[in-house]
Amino acid sequence: MLATRLYAPTLREVPSDADVVSQQLMLRAGFMRKVANGLYSFLPLGWRSIKKIEAIVREEMDRSMAQEIMMPILQPADMWKESGRWNAYGAEMMRINDRHDVEYCLGPTHEEMITTLVKHEINSYRQLPVNLYQIQSKFRDERRPRYGLMRSREFIMKDAYSFDIDEAGADISYQSMYDAYSRIFSRCGLTFRPVEADSGAIGGSKTHEFMAIAEAGEADIVHCTSCDYAANIEIGKPGIMKQEVEPLGELQIVDTPNASTIEAVANMLQLPLEKTMKAVVLSVDGKVVLAMVRGDHEVNEVAVQHAVNGSVEPEMATPEELASVGLTAGFISPVGLEQNENFLIVVDESIMESYNVCGGANKADAHYININPKRDFNVDDIIVAPIRFITDEDSCPICGSPLEKSKGIEVGQVFKLGTKYSESLDATFLDQNGRPTPMVMGCYGIGVSRTLAAAIEQYHDENGIILPRSIAPFEVVIVPINAKDESLMNVSQAVYNELLKNGVDVLLDDRKDRAGVKFKDADLIGYPLRITVSKNTLESQEVEIRIRKTGEAINCPINEVLEKVRALLFTL
Ligand code: ATP
Ligand code: MG
Repeated sequence: MLATRLYAPTLREVPSDADVVSQQLMLRAGFMRKVANGLYSFLPLGWRSIKKIEAIVREEMDRSMAQEIMMPILQPADMWKESGRWNAYGAEMMRINDRHDVEYCLGPTHEEMITTLVKHEINSYRQLPVNLYQIQSKFRDERRPRYGLMRSREFIMKDAYSFDIDEAGADISYQSMYDAYSRIFSRCGLTFRPVEADSGAIGGSKTHEFMAIAEAGEADIVHCTSCDYAANIEIGKPGIMKQEVEPLGELQIVDTPNASTIEAVANMLQLPLEKTMKAVVLSVDGKVVLAMVRGDHEVNEVAVQHAVNGSVEPEMATPEELASVGLTAGFISPVGLEQNENFLIVVDESIMESYNVCGGANKADAHYININPKRDFNVDDIIVAPIRFITDEDSCPICGSPLEKSKGIEVGQVFKLGTKYSESLDATFLDQNGRPTPMVMGCYGIGVSRTLAAAIEQYHDENGIILPRSIAPFEVVIVPINAKDESLMNVSQAVYNELLKNGVDVLLDDRKDRAGVKFKDADLIGYPLRITVSKNTLESQEVEIRIRKTGEAINCPINEVLEKVRALLFTL
Protein backbone atom coordinates (compact mmCIF):
# COMPACT_ATOMS: atom_id res chain seq x y z
CA MET A 1 0.00 0.00 0.00
CA LEU A 2 1.12 3.53 -0.74
CA ALA A 3 0.56 6.27 1.80
CA THR A 4 -0.61 8.60 -1.00
CA ARG A 5 -3.52 6.19 -1.58
CA LEU A 6 -4.23 5.34 2.06
CA TYR A 7 -7.40 6.77 3.56
CA ALA A 8 -6.05 7.57 7.00
CA PRO A 9 -6.86 11.13 8.04
CA THR A 10 -4.76 11.79 11.15
CA LEU A 11 -5.57 14.53 13.66
CA ARG A 12 -3.04 16.70 15.47
CA GLU A 13 -5.44 17.61 18.28
CA VAL A 14 -6.88 15.27 20.90
CA PRO A 15 -10.63 15.05 20.22
CA SER A 16 -12.40 16.75 23.10
CA ASP A 17 -15.10 14.15 23.72
CA ALA A 18 -12.78 11.13 23.80
CA ASP A 19 -12.54 9.93 27.38
CA VAL A 20 -9.94 7.14 27.23
CA VAL A 21 -6.55 6.90 25.57
CA SER A 22 -7.52 4.13 23.15
CA GLN A 23 -10.42 6.18 21.85
CA GLN A 24 -8.30 9.34 21.52
CA LEU A 25 -5.53 7.51 19.71
CA MET A 26 -7.83 5.62 17.36
CA LEU A 27 -9.47 8.90 16.35
CA ARG A 28 -6.17 10.75 16.04
CA ALA A 29 -4.45 7.96 14.10
CA GLY A 30 -7.36 7.69 11.67
CA PHE A 31 -8.42 4.20 12.75
CA MET A 32 -12.06 5.17 13.12
CA ARG A 33 -14.56 8.01 13.22
CA LYS A 34 -17.50 8.60 15.50
CA VAL A 35 -20.96 8.49 13.91
CA ALA A 36 -23.06 9.07 17.01
CA ASN A 37 -22.95 8.13 20.67
CA GLY A 38 -21.64 4.55 20.84
CA LEU A 39 -21.46 4.17 17.05
CA TYR A 40 -18.23 4.19 15.05
CA SER A 41 -17.11 3.73 11.46
CA PHE A 42 -13.86 1.87 11.03
CA LEU A 43 -11.44 3.42 8.55
CA PRO A 44 -8.92 1.23 6.69
CA LEU A 45 -6.27 1.18 9.44
CA GLY A 46 -8.70 0.26 12.22
CA TRP A 47 -10.44 -2.26 10.02
CA ARG A 48 -7.14 -3.93 9.13
CA SER A 49 -6.46 -4.45 12.84
CA ILE A 50 -9.98 -5.78 13.41
CA LYS A 51 -9.51 -8.22 10.50
CA LYS A 52 -6.26 -9.43 12.01
CA ILE A 53 -7.92 -10.05 15.38
CA GLU A 54 -10.75 -11.86 13.60
CA ALA A 55 -8.25 -14.02 11.72
CA ILE A 56 -6.60 -15.07 14.99
CA VAL A 57 -10.01 -15.80 16.50
CA ARG A 58 -11.00 -17.89 13.47
CA GLU A 59 -7.78 -19.89 13.47
CA GLU A 60 -8.06 -20.78 17.14
CA MET A 61 -11.78 -21.51 16.99
CA ASP A 62 -11.31 -23.74 13.96
CA ARG A 63 -8.39 -25.47 15.66
CA SER A 64 -10.70 -26.40 18.53
CA MET A 65 -13.21 -27.78 16.02
CA ALA A 66 -15.74 -25.02 16.35
CA GLN A 67 -17.32 -24.27 12.98
CA GLU A 68 -18.15 -20.88 11.57
CA ILE A 69 -21.71 -20.06 10.57
CA MET A 70 -23.64 -16.83 10.09
CA MET A 71 -27.05 -16.11 11.53
CA PRO A 72 -29.22 -13.04 10.91
CA ILE A 73 -28.74 -10.04 13.16
CA LEU A 74 -32.47 -9.39 12.96
CA GLN A 75 -34.21 -11.78 15.34
CA PRO A 76 -37.93 -12.54 15.62
CA ALA A 77 -39.33 -11.77 19.08
CA ASP A 78 -41.09 -15.14 19.25
CA MET A 79 -38.05 -17.17 20.21
CA TRP A 80 -37.15 -14.66 22.91
CA LYS A 81 -40.66 -14.86 24.28
CA GLU A 82 -40.35 -18.63 24.34
CA SER A 83 -37.15 -18.48 26.40
CA GLY A 84 -38.62 -15.82 28.65
CA ARG A 85 -35.93 -13.25 27.86
CA TRP A 86 -38.00 -10.84 25.72
CA ASN A 87 -39.02 -9.08 28.91
CA ALA A 88 -36.10 -10.07 31.12
CA TYR A 89 -33.50 -8.54 28.78
CA GLY A 90 -34.88 -5.09 29.46
CA ALA A 91 -33.93 -1.75 27.97
CA GLU A 92 -30.59 -2.92 26.60
CA MET A 93 -32.33 -4.72 23.75
CA MET A 94 -32.87 -2.73 20.55
CA ARG A 95 -36.39 -3.58 19.40
CA ILE A 96 -38.06 -2.87 16.08
CA ASN A 97 -41.29 -3.70 14.30
CA ASP A 98 -41.56 -4.61 10.64
CA ARG A 99 -44.20 -3.20 8.25
CA HIS A 100 -46.68 -5.82 9.45
CA ASP A 101 -46.07 -4.75 13.01
CA VAL A 102 -44.30 -7.99 13.87
CA GLU A 103 -41.74 -7.54 16.64
CA TYR A 104 -38.01 -8.12 16.20
CA CYS A 105 -34.80 -7.24 17.98
CA LEU A 106 -31.29 -6.52 16.75
CA GLY A 107 -29.35 -9.39 18.29
CA PRO A 108 -27.55 -8.57 21.55
CA THR A 109 -26.55 -12.27 21.66
CA HIS A 110 -27.82 -15.43 19.91
CA GLU A 111 -28.65 -18.21 22.42
CA GLU A 112 -32.29 -18.28 21.35
CA MET A 113 -31.62 -18.34 17.63
CA ILE A 114 -28.88 -20.96 17.71
CA THR A 115 -30.88 -23.25 20.00
CA THR A 116 -33.88 -22.94 17.73
CA LEU A 117 -31.63 -23.69 14.76
CA VAL A 118 -30.02 -26.86 16.12
CA LYS A 119 -33.12 -28.30 17.71
CA HIS A 120 -34.59 -28.84 14.26
CA GLU A 121 -31.42 -30.51 12.98
CA ILE A 122 -30.03 -32.54 15.86
CA ASN A 123 -32.04 -35.41 17.20
CA SER A 124 -29.56 -38.11 18.13
CA TYR A 125 -26.65 -38.35 20.56
CA ARG A 126 -24.59 -39.44 17.54
CA GLN A 127 -24.71 -35.86 16.18
CA LEU A 128 -23.18 -34.38 19.33
CA PRO A 129 -21.03 -32.61 20.42
CA VAL A 130 -21.28 -29.58 18.16
CA ASN A 131 -19.74 -26.14 18.54
CA LEU A 132 -20.83 -23.34 16.18
CA TYR A 133 -19.63 -19.75 16.06
CA GLN A 134 -20.02 -16.53 14.13
CA ILE A 135 -18.40 -13.12 13.99
CA GLN A 136 -20.81 -10.25 13.49
CA SER A 137 -22.14 -6.96 14.82
CA LYS A 138 -24.10 -7.08 18.05
CA PHE A 139 -26.41 -4.38 19.33
CA ARG A 140 -26.93 -3.30 22.91
CA ASP A 141 -28.60 -0.10 23.95
CA GLU A 142 -26.11 0.43 26.77
CA ARG A 143 -27.17 2.65 29.64
CA ARG A 144 -23.88 4.50 29.32
CA PRO A 145 -22.15 4.00 25.97
CA ARG A 146 -18.64 5.33 26.53
CA TYR A 147 -14.93 4.78 26.17
CA GLY A 148 -15.15 4.43 22.40
CA LEU A 149 -15.02 0.84 21.24
CA MET A 150 -14.97 -0.43 24.80
CA ARG A 151 -18.64 0.17 25.43
CA SER A 152 -20.40 0.94 22.19
CA ARG A 153 -23.97 0.28 21.11
CA GLU A 154 -23.00 -1.62 17.98
CA PHE A 155 -19.88 -3.74 18.31
CA ILE A 156 -18.21 -6.77 16.79
CA MET A 157 -18.49 -10.00 18.72
CA LYS A 158 -17.43 -13.55 18.16
CA ASP A 159 -20.08 -15.73 19.74
CA ALA A 160 -19.84 -19.51 19.96
CA TYR A 161 -22.30 -22.08 21.28
CA SER A 162 -21.58 -25.67 22.24
CA PHE A 163 -24.05 -28.56 22.55
CA ASP A 164 -23.20 -31.74 24.41
CA ILE A 165 -24.96 -34.89 25.51
CA ASP A 166 -24.12 -34.47 29.20
CA GLU A 167 -22.38 -32.39 31.88
CA ALA A 168 -19.07 -34.17 31.41
CA GLY A 169 -19.11 -33.39 27.69
CA ALA A 170 -20.06 -29.78 28.38
CA ASP A 171 -17.08 -29.49 30.74
CA ILE A 172 -14.76 -30.64 27.96
CA SER A 173 -16.26 -28.11 25.54
CA TYR A 174 -15.89 -25.39 28.17
CA GLN A 175 -12.25 -26.23 28.79
CA SER A 176 -11.51 -26.32 25.09
CA MET A 177 -12.96 -22.81 24.66
CA TYR A 178 -11.12 -21.60 27.76
CA ASP A 179 -7.87 -22.84 26.24
CA ALA A 180 -8.69 -21.34 22.82
CA TYR A 181 -9.40 -17.97 24.47
CA SER A 182 -6.08 -18.11 26.28
CA ARG A 183 -4.32 -18.71 22.97
CA ILE A 184 -6.29 -15.98 21.20
CA PHE A 185 -5.52 -13.27 23.74
CA SER A 186 -1.87 -14.37 23.95
CA ARG A 187 -1.56 -14.12 20.19
CA CYS A 188 -3.13 -10.66 20.28
CA GLY A 189 -0.30 -9.76 22.65
CA LEU A 190 -2.55 -8.88 25.58
CA THR A 191 -1.62 -9.03 29.23
CA PHE A 192 -4.72 -10.77 30.52
CA ARG A 193 -6.09 -12.88 33.32
CA PRO A 194 -9.06 -15.28 33.33
CA VAL A 195 -11.15 -14.62 36.44
CA GLU A 196 -14.12 -16.27 38.10
CA ALA A 197 -17.20 -14.27 37.28
CA ASP A 198 -20.92 -13.85 37.75
CA SER A 199 -23.11 -15.37 35.08
CA GLY A 200 -25.57 -12.45 35.23
CA ALA A 201 -28.73 -12.43 33.14
CA ILE A 202 -27.51 -15.18 30.86
CA GLY A 203 -27.73 -17.84 33.58
CA GLY A 204 -25.60 -20.95 33.95
CA SER A 205 -23.40 -22.66 36.46
CA LYS A 206 -19.77 -21.83 35.69
CA THR A 207 -18.18 -18.85 34.01
CA HIS A 208 -14.87 -17.07 33.55
CA GLU A 209 -14.21 -13.61 32.21
CA PHE A 210 -11.00 -12.89 30.34
CA MET A 211 -9.74 -9.57 31.61
CA ALA A 212 -7.17 -7.42 29.84
CA ILE A 213 -5.34 -5.71 32.68
CA ALA A 214 -5.58 -1.93 32.25
CA GLU A 215 -6.26 1.13 34.39
CA ALA A 216 -9.07 2.17 32.04
CA GLY A 217 -10.90 -1.08 32.76
CA GLU A 218 -14.40 -0.89 34.17
CA ALA A 219 -14.07 -4.15 36.13
CA ASP A 220 -12.33 -4.59 39.46
CA ILE A 221 -10.59 -7.88 39.95
CA VAL A 222 -8.60 -9.52 42.72
CA HIS A 223 -5.99 -12.19 42.38
CA CYS A 224 -4.00 -14.18 44.88
CA THR A 225 -0.31 -13.42 45.24
CA SER A 226 0.50 -17.09 45.65
CA CYS A 227 -2.15 -19.44 44.20
CA ASP A 228 -4.20 -19.34 40.96
CA TYR A 229 -7.26 -17.71 42.50
CA ALA A 230 -8.54 -14.71 40.54
CA ALA A 231 -12.04 -13.27 40.54
CA ASN A 232 -14.15 -10.36 39.50
CA ILE A 233 -14.91 -8.62 42.81
CA GLU A 234 -18.61 -9.06 41.97
CA ILE A 235 -18.19 -12.75 42.69
CA GLY A 236 -15.13 -12.84 45.01
CA LYS A 237 -16.35 -14.07 48.37
CA PRO A 238 -15.13 -11.85 51.19
CA GLY A 239 -14.26 -13.37 54.55
CA ILE A 240 -15.75 -12.15 57.83
CA MET A 241 -13.82 -9.26 59.36
CA LYS A 242 -14.19 -9.59 63.12
CA GLN A 243 -13.79 -6.60 65.38
CA GLU A 244 -12.28 -6.94 68.82
CA VAL A 245 -15.02 -7.68 71.34
CA GLU A 246 -15.79 -4.68 73.58
CA PRO A 247 -18.15 -4.15 76.51
CA LEU A 248 -21.52 -3.29 74.93
CA GLY A 249 -22.35 0.40 75.29
CA GLU A 250 -25.89 1.71 75.76
CA LEU A 251 -27.82 2.35 72.54
CA GLN A 252 -28.30 6.12 72.24
CA ILE A 253 -29.60 8.58 69.72
CA VAL A 254 -27.40 11.57 68.88
CA ASP A 255 -28.20 14.60 66.73
CA THR A 256 -26.36 14.60 63.43
CA PRO A 257 -27.87 17.55 61.55
CA ASN A 258 -27.36 17.32 57.77
CA ALA A 259 -24.85 14.48 58.17
CA SER A 260 -26.45 12.21 55.64
CA THR A 261 -23.30 10.50 54.36
CA ILE A 262 -21.34 8.04 56.41
CA GLU A 263 -18.16 10.09 56.00
CA ALA A 264 -19.91 13.18 57.37
CA VAL A 265 -21.23 11.25 60.37
CA ALA A 266 -17.86 9.65 61.10
CA ASN A 267 -16.29 13.08 60.91
CA MET A 268 -18.87 14.71 63.14
CA LEU A 269 -18.70 11.98 65.78
CA GLN A 270 -14.96 11.42 65.44
CA LEU A 271 -15.38 7.72 64.67
CA PRO A 272 -13.24 5.54 62.41
CA LEU A 273 -15.25 4.38 59.38
CA GLU A 274 -15.17 0.75 60.47
CA LYS A 275 -17.13 1.78 63.58
CA THR A 276 -19.98 2.97 61.38
CA MET A 277 -22.36 1.24 59.02
CA LYS A 278 -23.90 2.42 55.82
CA ALA A 279 -27.16 1.64 54.12
CA VAL A 280 -27.81 1.19 50.43
CA VAL A 281 -31.45 0.85 49.46
CA LEU A 282 -32.09 -1.22 46.35
CA SER A 283 -35.04 -2.39 44.36
CA VAL A 284 -35.15 -6.04 43.25
CA ASP A 285 -38.14 -7.78 41.66
CA GLY A 286 -40.44 -5.03 42.94
CA LYS A 287 -39.20 -5.32 46.53
CA VAL A 288 -37.28 -2.73 48.50
CA VAL A 289 -34.06 -4.20 49.84
CA LEU A 290 -32.05 -2.52 52.59
CA ALA A 291 -28.41 -3.59 52.26
CA MET A 292 -26.09 -2.79 55.18
CA VAL A 293 -22.30 -2.90 55.14
CA ARG A 294 -19.61 -1.44 57.38
CA GLY A 295 -18.76 2.21 56.67
CA ASP A 296 -15.39 1.25 55.20
CA HIS A 297 -16.90 -1.41 52.90
CA GLU A 298 -18.90 -1.22 49.68
CA VAL A 299 -22.14 -3.00 48.84
CA ASN A 300 -21.88 -5.61 46.10
CA GLU A 301 -25.22 -5.49 44.30
CA VAL A 302 -24.69 -8.83 42.60
CA ALA A 303 -24.17 -10.44 46.02
CA VAL A 304 -27.35 -8.75 47.24
CA GLN A 305 -29.20 -10.18 44.25
CA HIS A 306 -27.97 -13.67 45.17
CA ALA A 307 -28.80 -13.15 48.86
CA VAL A 308 -32.44 -12.35 48.07
CA ASN A 309 -32.70 -14.81 45.15
CA GLY A 310 -33.43 -11.90 42.83
CA SER A 311 -34.15 -12.65 39.20
CA VAL A 312 -32.63 -9.37 37.97
CA GLU A 313 -29.72 -7.17 38.97
CA PRO A 314 -30.78 -4.68 41.65
CA GLU A 315 -31.40 -1.03 40.84
CA MET A 316 -31.17 1.88 43.23
CA ALA A 317 -34.51 2.37 44.97
CA THR A 318 -36.37 5.57 44.07
CA PRO A 319 -37.35 8.15 46.73
CA GLU A 320 -40.95 6.93 46.32
CA GLU A 321 -39.90 3.35 47.04
CA LEU A 322 -38.01 4.48 50.15
CA ALA A 323 -41.07 6.37 51.32
CA SER A 324 -43.33 3.38 50.64
CA VAL A 325 -41.54 1.39 53.36
CA GLY A 326 -40.98 4.35 55.68
CA LEU A 327 -37.22 4.83 55.22
CA THR A 328 -35.50 8.20 55.70
CA ALA A 329 -32.66 8.51 53.18
CA GLY A 330 -29.30 9.16 54.80
CA PHE A 331 -30.34 8.04 58.27
CA ILE A 332 -31.18 4.35 57.91
CA SER A 333 -30.23 1.31 60.00
CA PRO A 334 -31.95 -2.04 60.70
CA VAL A 335 -32.48 -1.09 64.37
CA GLY A 336 -36.20 -1.38 65.08
CA LEU A 337 -37.08 -2.35 61.50
CA GLU A 338 -38.90 -5.51 60.45
CA GLN A 339 -39.08 -7.23 57.09
CA ASN A 340 -42.35 -7.68 55.28
CA GLU A 341 -43.43 -8.95 51.87
CA ASN A 342 -42.32 -5.74 50.19
CA PHE A 343 -39.24 -5.05 52.29
CA LEU A 344 -36.12 -7.13 52.96
CA ILE A 345 -33.13 -6.42 55.20
CA VAL A 346 -29.75 -7.86 54.18
CA VAL A 347 -26.83 -7.36 56.54
CA ASP A 348 -23.21 -8.11 55.67
CA GLU A 349 -21.58 -10.82 57.76
CA SER A 350 -18.82 -8.51 58.99
CA ILE A 351 -21.39 -6.13 60.52
CA MET A 352 -22.60 -8.92 62.76
CA GLU A 353 -19.08 -9.13 64.21
CA SER A 354 -18.88 -5.39 64.96
CA TYR A 355 -19.30 -3.70 68.33
CA ASN A 356 -20.56 -0.27 69.41
CA VAL A 357 -21.02 1.02 65.89
CA CYS A 358 -22.90 4.03 64.63
CA GLY A 359 -25.83 3.85 62.19
CA GLY A 360 -28.93 5.78 61.16
CA ALA A 361 -31.72 6.34 63.68
CA ASN A 362 -34.42 5.98 61.01
CA LYS A 363 -35.39 9.62 61.39
CA ALA A 364 -33.92 12.75 59.87
CA ASP A 365 -30.74 14.29 61.29
CA ALA A 366 -30.15 11.60 63.92
CA HIS A 367 -27.95 8.52 64.36
CA TYR A 368 -27.66 5.76 66.89
CA ILE A 369 -24.37 5.19 68.62
CA ASN A 370 -23.37 1.95 70.35
CA ILE A 371 -25.32 -0.27 67.99
CA ASN A 372 -24.45 -3.88 68.73
CA PRO A 373 -26.00 -5.82 65.86
CA LYS A 374 -26.37 -9.15 67.64
CA ARG A 375 -28.24 -7.35 70.42
CA ASP A 376 -30.01 -4.57 68.55
CA PHE A 377 -31.14 -6.08 65.23
CA ASN A 378 -34.14 -8.39 64.89
CA VAL A 379 -31.65 -11.16 64.25
CA ASP A 380 -34.23 -13.82 63.45
CA ASP A 381 -35.85 -11.56 60.90
CA ILE A 382 -32.94 -10.36 58.76
CA ILE A 383 -30.85 -11.96 56.04
CA VAL A 384 -27.15 -12.18 56.93
CA ALA A 385 -24.92 -12.76 53.91
CA PRO A 386 -21.54 -11.77 52.47
CA ILE A 387 -22.74 -8.72 50.50
CA ARG A 388 -19.67 -6.50 50.53
CA PHE A 389 -17.03 -6.37 47.83
CA ILE A 390 -13.89 -8.35 48.54
CA THR A 391 -10.89 -6.00 48.88
CA ASP A 392 -7.13 -6.33 48.91
CA GLU A 393 -7.37 -6.26 52.70
CA ASP A 394 -9.08 -9.65 52.56
CA SER A 395 -7.07 -12.80 52.21
CA CYS A 396 -7.36 -15.40 49.47
CA PRO A 397 -10.47 -17.55 50.01
CA ILE A 398 -8.56 -20.58 48.74
CA CYS A 399 -5.12 -20.40 50.40
CA GLY A 400 -5.23 -17.43 52.78
CA SER A 401 -2.38 -15.49 51.13
CA PRO A 402 -2.63 -11.74 50.47
CA LEU A 403 -4.73 -10.55 47.53
CA GLU A 404 -3.93 -7.86 44.98
CA LYS A 405 -6.44 -5.68 43.19
CA SER A 406 -6.38 -4.52 39.59
CA LYS A 407 -8.60 -3.08 36.90
CA GLY A 408 -9.61 -5.16 33.93
CA ILE A 409 -11.30 -4.76 30.55
CA GLU A 410 -13.55 -7.77 29.91
CA VAL A 411 -12.51 -8.92 26.45
CA GLY A 412 -14.19 -12.31 26.57
CA GLN A 413 -16.37 -14.57 28.66
CA VAL A 414 -17.05 -18.30 28.65
CA PHE A 415 -20.21 -19.77 30.20
CA LYS A 416 -21.34 -23.24 31.03
CA LEU A 417 -25.05 -22.79 30.49
CA GLY A 418 -26.43 -26.20 31.35
CA THR A 419 -29.94 -26.85 30.04
CA LYS A 420 -31.56 -23.45 30.66
CA TYR A 421 -32.11 -22.71 26.96
CA SER A 422 -32.44 -26.26 25.70
CA GLU A 423 -35.24 -26.83 28.22
CA SER A 424 -37.12 -23.59 27.63
CA LEU A 425 -36.77 -23.92 23.85
CA ASP A 426 -37.25 -27.67 23.84
CA ALA A 427 -33.92 -28.64 22.26
CA THR A 428 -33.75 -32.34 23.01
CA PHE A 429 -32.05 -35.34 21.43
CA LEU A 430 -32.50 -39.08 21.87
CA ASP A 431 -29.81 -40.52 24.12
CA GLN A 432 -28.27 -44.01 23.86
CA ASN A 433 -31.37 -45.49 25.44
CA GLY A 434 -33.70 -43.64 23.13
CA ARG A 435 -34.82 -41.21 25.83
CA PRO A 436 -35.40 -37.53 24.91
CA THR A 437 -32.78 -35.50 26.77
CA PRO A 438 -32.07 -31.74 26.75
CA MET A 439 -28.72 -30.76 25.24
CA VAL A 440 -26.17 -29.36 27.68
CA MET A 441 -25.00 -26.00 26.37
CA GLY A 442 -22.14 -23.56 26.70
CA CYS A 443 -21.73 -20.11 25.17
CA TYR A 444 -18.57 -18.14 24.58
CA GLY A 445 -18.14 -14.49 23.58
CA ILE A 446 -15.21 -12.35 22.52
CA GLY A 447 -15.50 -8.61 22.07
CA VAL A 448 -13.45 -8.27 18.89
CA SER A 449 -13.69 -4.48 18.69
CA ARG A 450 -13.22 -4.15 22.46
CA THR A 451 -10.09 -6.29 22.18
CA LEU A 452 -8.54 -3.72 19.83
CA ALA A 453 -9.32 -0.93 22.30
CA ALA A 454 -7.91 -3.00 25.17
CA ALA A 455 -4.68 -3.67 23.27
CA ILE A 456 -4.21 0.05 22.63
CA GLU A 457 -4.88 0.80 26.31
CA GLN A 458 -2.01 -1.55 27.10
CA TYR A 459 0.31 -0.52 24.29
CA HIS A 460 0.81 3.17 23.67
CA ASP A 461 3.06 6.04 24.70
CA GLU A 462 2.86 9.83 24.49
CA ASN A 463 3.56 9.66 20.73
CA GLY A 464 0.89 7.18 19.81
CA ILE A 465 -0.09 3.55 19.38
CA ILE A 466 2.36 0.63 19.76
CA LEU A 467 0.27 -2.40 18.78
CA PRO A 468 1.86 -5.84 18.78
CA ARG A 469 2.85 -6.94 15.31
CA SER A 470 0.11 -9.57 15.19
CA ILE A 471 -2.69 -7.00 15.18
CA ALA A 472 -1.03 -3.79 13.95
CA PRO A 473 -2.60 -2.50 10.69
CA PHE A 474 0.75 -2.77 8.91
CA GLU A 475 3.96 -4.40 10.08
CA VAL A 476 6.43 -2.06 8.43
CA VAL A 477 6.48 1.46 7.05
CA ILE A 478 9.17 2.64 4.66
CA VAL A 479 9.89 6.36 4.91
CA PRO A 480 11.98 7.99 2.20
CA ILE A 481 13.19 11.22 3.84
CA ASN A 482 12.47 13.13 0.66
CA ALA A 483 9.93 11.67 -1.75
CA LYS A 484 10.85 14.25 -4.39
CA ASP A 485 14.32 12.71 -4.66
CA GLU A 486 14.10 10.08 -7.34
CA SER A 487 17.14 8.11 -6.20
CA LEU A 488 15.70 7.81 -2.67
CA MET A 489 12.37 6.75 -4.11
CA ASN A 490 14.02 4.10 -6.27
CA VAL A 491 15.72 2.49 -3.28
CA SER A 492 12.51 2.74 -1.23
CA GLN A 493 10.46 1.21 -3.98
CA ALA A 494 12.93 -1.68 -4.33
CA VAL A 495 12.84 -2.44 -0.60
CA TYR A 496 9.05 -2.13 -0.67
CA ASN A 497 8.72 -4.57 -3.57
CA GLU A 498 10.96 -7.10 -1.94
CA LEU A 499 9.12 -7.03 1.39
CA LEU A 500 5.74 -7.11 -0.31
CA LYS A 501 6.76 -10.04 -2.50
CA ASN A 502 7.77 -11.94 0.62
CA GLY A 503 4.51 -11.49 2.44
CA VAL A 504 5.45 -8.62 4.76
CA ASP A 505 2.57 -6.25 5.45
CA VAL A 506 4.30 -3.06 4.34
CA LEU A 507 3.35 0.53 3.59
CA LEU A 508 5.48 2.92 1.56
CA ASP A 509 5.15 6.51 2.75
CA ASP A 510 5.53 8.14 -0.66
CA ARG A 511 3.97 11.43 0.45
CA LYS A 512 5.91 14.54 -0.42
CA ASP A 513 5.57 15.85 3.13
CA ARG A 514 8.45 16.80 5.39
CA ALA A 515 10.23 13.88 7.06
CA GLY A 516 9.16 15.17 10.49
CA VAL A 517 5.49 14.90 9.56
CA LYS A 518 5.93 11.36 8.28
CA PHE A 519 7.84 10.29 11.39
CA LYS A 520 5.13 11.75 13.63
CA ASP A 521 2.43 9.86 11.73
CA ALA A 522 4.49 6.66 11.84
CA ASP A 523 4.75 6.94 15.62
CA LEU A 524 1.07 7.83 16.01
CA ILE A 525 -0.17 4.92 13.88
CA GLY A 526 2.43 2.68 15.47
CA TYR A 527 3.96 0.64 12.67
CA PRO A 528 6.08 -1.90 14.59
CA LEU A 529 9.09 -1.21 12.29
CA ARG A 530 10.04 1.95 10.41
CA ILE A 531 12.63 1.79 7.66
CA THR A 532 14.18 5.15 6.89
CA VAL A 533 15.76 5.73 3.50
CA SER A 534 17.95 8.83 3.54
CA LYS A 535 20.83 10.44 1.66
CA ASN A 536 23.07 8.37 3.89
CA THR A 537 21.51 5.22 2.45
CA LEU A 538 22.80 6.08 -0.99
CA GLU A 539 26.35 6.43 0.30
CA SER A 540 26.49 3.54 2.76
CA GLN A 541 23.96 1.26 1.07
CA GLU A 542 22.35 0.94 4.50
CA VAL A 543 18.88 1.81 5.75
CA GLU A 544 17.91 2.56 9.31
CA ILE A 545 15.38 0.20 10.89
CA ARG A 546 13.71 1.68 13.94
CA ILE A 547 11.71 -0.39 16.42
CA ARG A 548 8.62 1.53 17.50
CA LYS A 549 8.32 -0.29 20.83
CA THR A 550 11.84 0.38 22.10
CA GLY A 551 12.94 3.31 19.99
CA GLU A 552 16.05 1.32 19.10
CA ALA A 553 17.54 2.08 15.65
CA ILE A 554 19.61 -0.41 13.70
CA ASN A 555 21.59 0.17 10.52
CA CYS A 556 21.07 -2.61 8.03
CA PRO A 557 22.60 -3.23 4.58
CA ILE A 558 19.93 -2.92 1.89
CA ASN A 559 20.37 -6.48 0.70
CA GLU A 560 19.78 -7.83 4.23
CA VAL A 561 16.61 -5.91 4.97
CA LEU A 562 14.19 -8.79 4.40
CA GLU A 563 16.09 -11.12 6.67
CA LYS A 564 16.46 -8.47 9.39
CA VAL A 565 12.81 -7.40 9.19
CA ARG A 566 11.66 -10.99 9.54
CA ALA A 567 13.91 -11.58 12.53
CA LEU A 568 12.78 -8.38 14.25
CA LEU A 569 9.07 -8.91 13.55
CA PHE A 570 9.34 -12.30 15.14
CA THR A 571 10.13 -10.60 18.45
CA LEU A 572 7.38 -7.96 18.33
P1 ATP B 1 -20.14 -5.91 30.07
O1 ATP B 1 -20.24 -6.55 31.43
O2 ATP B 1 -18.83 -5.24 29.84
O3 ATP B 1 -21.31 -5.07 29.72
P2 ATP B 1 -21.16 -8.35 29.09
O4 ATP B 1 -20.69 -9.26 30.16
O5 ATP B 1 -22.54 -7.86 29.10
O6 ATP B 1 -20.16 -7.09 29.02
P3 ATP B 1 -21.10 -10.53 27.22
O7 ATP B 1 -22.53 -10.75 27.11
O8 ATP B 1 -20.27 -11.45 28.05
O9 ATP B 1 -20.84 -9.01 27.68
O10 ATP B 1 -20.50 -10.39 25.74
C1 ATP B 1 -19.32 -11.00 25.27
C2 ATP B 1 -18.23 -9.97 25.02
O11 ATP B 1 -18.68 -8.92 24.18
C3 ATP B 1 -17.75 -9.29 26.26
O12 ATP B 1 -16.79 -10.06 26.96
C4 ATP B 1 -17.15 -7.99 25.72
O13 ATP B 1 -15.81 -8.22 25.31
C5 ATP B 1 -18.00 -7.71 24.50
N1 ATP B 1 -18.96 -6.63 24.76
C6 ATP B 1 -20.08 -6.68 25.50
N2 ATP B 1 -20.72 -5.51 25.50
C7 ATP B 1 -19.99 -4.67 24.72
C8 ATP B 1 -20.13 -3.32 24.31
N3 ATP B 1 -21.17 -2.58 24.68
N4 ATP B 1 -19.19 -2.78 23.49
C9 ATP B 1 -18.13 -3.51 23.08
N5 ATP B 1 -17.94 -4.81 23.44
C10 ATP B 1 -18.85 -5.38 24.24
MG1 MG C 1 -19.62 -10.78 29.98
